[in-house]
Amino acid sequence: MMRIHAIDIDLIDDINESAKSVYPDEFLCTLSAEDGVICEMVMLPGTVYGDEHSFLNLWMAPANCNIVGTAHSHPDYCNMASDADLDLFRNMGGFHLITCMPFDRTSWKLYNSLGEEVELEVVSQVM
Ligand SMILES: [Zn+2]
Repeated sequence: MMRIHAIDIDLIDDINESAKSVYPDEFLCTLSAEDGVICEMVMLPGTVYGDEHSFLNLWMAPANCNIVGTAHSHPDYCNMASDADLDLFRNMGGFHLITCMPFDRTSWKLYNSLGEEVELEVVSQVM
């Protein structure tokens, strides 16, 4: 797995927009990185929103990109990882973003596979 040092603010915005659009269901997707920066949502077909168990299938799905973790939303004001989340993080490795209401640039947190909070530099890339 490549070394990750930053996350793109545009990606955060995208995740929050998507989270808003499926609210009150949970949004989830996998994340890919380029040059050490987590920068893209990867939507895999067959994703079932609102079912945490679909996470695992999502992760197992074949993907031809640099999947480095997952992102999902909580339809409340808590971006703490739940017990179910922690189980999944442990099984998956990588970085896991959780965003919550009001789905803005301050409402997300990033965790490692141990469920510990991780701070990455937030960058803005011009595409
Ligand atoms: Zn969760």
